[in-house]
Formats: sequence, C-alpha cells, structure tokens
Amino acid sequence: MTNHHNQNGTNNRESVVNSDVNSVDNIAANMGDTQYDVVIVGASVAGTAAAVFFARSGLRVALIERNREMKAYKKACTHYLQPFGVRVLKRLGVVEQLEAADAQPNGGRVWTKWGWFGNSAPSKKGHGYNIRREVLDPILRQNAAATPGVELFLGTAVRDLIVENDRIVGVRVNAPGKKVVDMRAKLVVGADGRYSRTAKLAGVTETVAPNNRFVYFGYYRNMPLKDGKAGQMWFQGESIGYAMPNDNGYTLLAAILPKTELATFKQDIEGNFKRFFETLPNSPNLHTAERNSKLLGMVDLPIVSRQTTMPGLALIGDAAVASDPLWGNGMSWALLAADWLTKLTKEALSSENTADLDAALRLYAEKHHASLADRLARDIDFAKVRPFNWIERLFYAASIHDLRYGSQTGPQNASLTNYRNWPSFKHIKGAAKILLQHKYNNLTQRVKPRSALGKSVFAD
Ligand SMILES: Cc1cc2nc3c(=O)[nH]c(=O)nc-3n(C[C@H](O)[C@H](O)[C@H](O)COP(=O)(O)OP(=O)(O)OC[C@H]3O[C@@H](n4cnc5c(N)ncnc54)[C@H](O)[C@@H]3O)c2cc1C
Repeated sequence: MTNHHNQNGTNNRESVVNSDVNSVDNIAANMGDTQYDVVIVGASVAGTAAAVFFARSGLRVALIERNREMKAYKKACTHYLQPFGVRVLKRLGVVEQLEAADAQPNGGRVWTKWGWFGNSAPSKKGHGYNIRREVLDPILRQNAAATPGVELFLGTAVRDLIVENDRIVGVRVNAPGKKVVDMRAKLVVGADGRYSRTAKLAGVTETVAPNNRFVYFGYYRNMPLKDGKAGQMWFQGESIGYAMPNDNGYTLLAAILPKTELATFKQDIEGNFKRFFETLPNSPNLHTAERNSKLLGMVDLPIVSRQTTMPGLALIGDAAVASDPLWGNGMSWALLAADWLTKLTKEALSSENTADLDAALRLYAEKHHASLADRLARDIDFAKVRPFNWIERLFYAASIHDLRYGSQTGPQNASLTNYRNWPSFKHIKGAAKILLQHKYNNLTQRVKPRSALGKSVFAD
C-alpha cells in the first residue's frame, strides 16, 4: 500500500505534490485488501480535517477522493469561513499557510431598508476568512496527505459498502486503472458532500426541505468596495446580494433571489445580474471592474439533513447536513463535525470492541443534532422566502443604532417557528427601547449621548 505523506512528515508542498502525482498511477498496483482503522470517503473540508485528527491519535486512516488531482477544488462555493470554523483550522495548523496565500479576514457591513450596520474592520475578538476554494482545498488536502498515518488515494471512488452482520465494515472502490478494491475499516466516514453516495448506499434516512431561492455568482478584480476591505451584504426585499473580498484581489459577487424570479432572470442572466446590483445602495461598480469568470448559477439547493450514524458508519460535513449557502456556514459546520466525530470516537477506535464504537457514534449523533438542529430549523424557515417577521424588523432597525442587535440576535437567529430560537426578552425590550428613544430624539430634535439611553443590555 502506498503511503502518500512525505518521508519526514513535514508539510513540504513540493514533495507532497510530487508523491501524489505518482500516487494516482501507483494506487491500483499497490492497493490490496488492507485493514484500516478508518476509511474516509471524500478529501475536501470535512474529510481532510477528520483524517488529520484521527491520524494524530495514532489511527491508520485511508482518505479516498474521486478526483485525480491534488489541486481539485469545489466550484460551487462563495468562500466565507466563520470564526468558529477558523478555530478548527488553527488546530489543523493551516492558518499561517492560508494567510500566506492571501486569505482575507472577513466580517463586513450589512444593509437592510433601515440602513447599514456592521464593522468595517475584522473583529478583534476573532474573525473568519474568505479564501477561494481553488486555494483552500489543495492546502487542506496537502495538509492531510502530509500527516503521518493518513494514506490519501486520489482518483478513487466509492462504489459499494461492505456489510457484514448488519454492520458496515468497509468500502469497495473503483481505483485507477479500472481496478476494484476492497478497503476494510472499523469505521467508514462519509465526507462526500451534499449528494453523498456513501449515505445513499447505506440507506440512511434523509429529510429534504425546499430552498425557494437560487444563486448566481462571479469573480471580479479592481472592484473597490464602499468600506475598503470590508465585505458588503444586502437584504433587498426578499433578495440578498453580497460582495466579498477574497484572496489575491478577487471579489466575489453573489445574487441570491427568490425562485419566482428565476424564469425572468434566465432570459438575460448577465444583464439582470448587473441590474440587481445597480438597485443596491452603495454597491460596487460592475462596469469599471474586470470580470474574471463566467457567472455560475445554482438553481436548486434544497436543505438536506441525514441520519448521521449507523453501526460502522458516520457522516460529516454536507453529507450529514447541507443547508442554505446564504449564511456561509457549510464549511465551518463541516470542520466542527470532523472535530466532534474524531474527539468522540478516537478512544473507541483504539479498542476492538464494536459496542464501544457504537456508543461513541451515538454520542456523535447526539452532539451533531444538539448543536445544529435549531440553526437548521431557522435556515429552513428563512429559505421559504417570507417577509421579515416582527423580531427581524425590530432587530434590524435597532442594529442601526447598536450593531450588536444585528450581529448577536439578528434576523438569522429570529425564526418564529420555535420560541427557543427567539432572542431573550431582555434583548427584545432593549431593541424596542433604543428605537423608541431614537424616535423621541428625532421628534424633539434633541440628540442625547448614548449613555443617556440607559445601560446596554449586552455584556461587553
Ligand atoms: C453556491 C454555494 C455557495 C456556498 N458558499 C459557502 C460559503 O460561503 N461558506 C461556507 O462555509 N459554505 C458554503 N457553501 C457550502 C460548502 O461548499 C459546503 O458546506 C462544504 O464544501 C462542505 O464540505 P464537505 O467536505 O462536507 O463536502 P464537499 O466540499 O462537497 O466535498 C466532498 C468531497 O467528496 C468527494 N466525493 C464525492 N463522492 C465521492 C465518492 N463516491 N468517492 C470518493 N470521493 C467522493 C468530492 O470529490 C469532494 O472532494 C456553499 C455551497 C454552495 C452550493
């Protein structure tokens, strides 16, 4: 079996790339019926993170990826990494490399009909990054390939699961050279994305909710934004736009519109994309900027969530939950899921007792559900395309005066479908008070210092 990490275990880009160019051709010759601790299907955000964390615990990991190229990357993405995802990237040890590759600290300004709120500089408390997948994915894959204990198999796709006594015990793969190989493992991890073949083969239960918006996006250079390097996001009626600076001078523009407008939009995609941005306040100038890509469209992005485990199997990343890309959470959830799974199962994987592993998998499933289910319910609610509810109207209006109403308890947190998702009464009262006070100030033309508005309801 070929081992694809470089000899000294360091993160030497050149030696990793070279060894993997060889690996695709050598895989078929070297693959045999081998026993691993873990086989991970998919070497993208979720799979590469899980591979590194498992291998660091001394486990033997096969990471299989259907793409033949080390530099393959996901095209359908708008590249927003959240601060909570970056915390996992730090532990993977790749943040310095991302910065060297010109990852842009993110954050930015949000516009609603009440005005702008948000920070024009990245938060000092911790920020995320924007970096194109073309740059990010190869860095993550090389990091995994360079980790002792990870064996990366490019050009290798799952075709079947091996099941014995109602337990998944491995995968049957199509390897390069049309070879079919069995790879056995204590645990198979499906990290193969939204359309997960692993999940389909396992027959896990799946819930699909509609997403009534579609998205078109493209890349521009020489596109100055209103607040320099700060990204911009607009909520214009039921449509959303964003302009996000990424690495190496690329700015990504995305238009996320209700599906009721799709047929008209498609009649003139280029023209309608431009016209949409022209309607937005302080939008960048699309006429003077240089476009560096076609406009890419994704017109059907339902919200998919799946049963995350069964005996011998765990799903992570989009394979477990693929939500509305509007909120830019998918990659960061993928990193979290990889982190949860590896922490909760690594000990059980070191023993031969499958009952221990099953118990650990149940803990992972519970953690995944407890952490993401409420947030998913809010995404599903907002993806219906509905007008802002009263909490959203209140908080967006208040955020103009105190941005924390937008960032901490804002619209994306305010689905009315479940009262558990509501902001606290203290925050609702605080938002109402700040608005009333500003109305009163406007009426009386008196401008009071902020301290006169009373003590902030937020813990600073
Ligand atoms: C339009 C759009 C915009 C988005 N914007 C953002 C954003 O701004 N921020 C954000 O965080 N998220 C965003 N997302 C979501 C983000 O792309 C995903 O959440 C993220 O890529 C999930 O990572 P993953 O590793 O789970 O799966 P993926 O990145 O989809 O990777 C799956 C991997 O599995 C491999 N694979 C698939 N099948 C097989 C097989 N049978 N055998 C072997 N390998 C296989 C694939 O080749 C791929 O490498 C967006 C999504 C879309 C559609």
